[in-house]
Amino acid sequence: MKSIASCLCKKITFEVNSFLESFGHCHCNMCQKFHGAAFSTFIEVKKIDLHWLSGEVLLKEYRADNGTVRTFCSCCGSSLLFESKYNRNENTIEVALAAFDSITGVHADAHIYTESKVGWFDINDNLPQHRQYRS
Ligand SMILES: [Zn+2]
Ligand SMILES: [Zn+2]
Repeated sequence: MKSIASCLCKKITFEVNSFLESFGHCHCNMCQKFHGAAFSTFIEVKKIDLHWLSGEVLLKEYRADNGTVRTFCSCCGSSLLFESKYNRNENTIEVALAAFDSITGVHADAHIYTESKVGWFDINDNLPQHRQYRS
């Protein structure tokens, strides 16, 4: 089943054919800054399962010192994609789950990098918490 995603200004749209299984809420400082939020939720997809529908030319990349690449809309600033060395090896990319207009049947299974969780958000679910990446 295809899921459609878009940025805030809706100039960038894309669809994903299927999602890989596990994904978590990431509380690292970089995700906080990138999303402007307490944590990020990215879901991993195979690159061949992601298709751009419009606005691909508006994508802009930020490459951090640690080699991770975060991609956002240069018009409205929506954070859209995350890629690390792991993703490049596996030919996958991580997509911001909140960019999807409607999505059902997926559930996060962990909190990661909770060592840098913000003090103004409490985790009130029973998902496993990892101080860094899931072990
Ligand atoms: Zn946009
Ligand atoms: Zn993170």
